[in-house]
Amino acid sequence: MNISNLAEQAEDFTGNIWYIDGSEKILVDVGTGDSWKSIRELEEVDKVVITHSHYDHVDNLTKVKEKYSPEIYAYKPENLDVDAVKISENDRLTLSDTEFQIIHTPGHKDDSVCLYSEEEKILFTGDLIFPEGGFGRTDLEEGDRELLINSIKKITTLDVDTFYPGHEDMVGQNANEQIQSSLEQAERRESKY
Ligand SMILES: [Zn+2]
Repeated sequence: MNISNLAEQAEDFTGNIWYIDGSEKILVDVGTGDSWKSIRELEEVDKVVITHSHYDHVDNLTKVKEKYSPEIYAYKPENLDVDAVKISENDRLTLSDTEFQIIHTPGHKDDSVCLYSEEEKILFTGDLIFPEGGFGRTDLEEGDRELLINSIKKITTLDVDTFYPGHEDMVGQNANEQIQSSLEQAERRESKY
């Protein structure tokens, strides 16, 4: 299973677009702006999973739907411009032959989820945490620092080798330590912006 970030070359501000290239072609989030240019080069997209419905993660969804007609999964389909299948806490989703567990992680936005594969020890975090102790902002609508702290605690119990955040680079080393560091930073309860 090869995972790459289709938003890497984008010049416009956008969330990451994680592309899982295996027996199925999967997008975790679809980004906004000129990141579409990388998505439209793909031959197919079978499934899309949305980590949360902020525009920088979902804006290209209508174009993706029109071009590829994938199955789309989201915690709150009603927050999207296209039809999607609802996913809930502890649901199992098979993506490219790998089973992922859905973990509801509110605090940055109510419909935030993480995707975890116990088998591969990989985690897609959306905007819950970022590298080097980073964590999602909680000053936006639906933001709540205490909820965010509880959500980060949920993922500290996982065994993670690699995590893929909604912004910045993937973390392939000391991932569990970095998750712990994000929890400690968030628990300082200092305002972030
Ligand atoms: Zn966000």
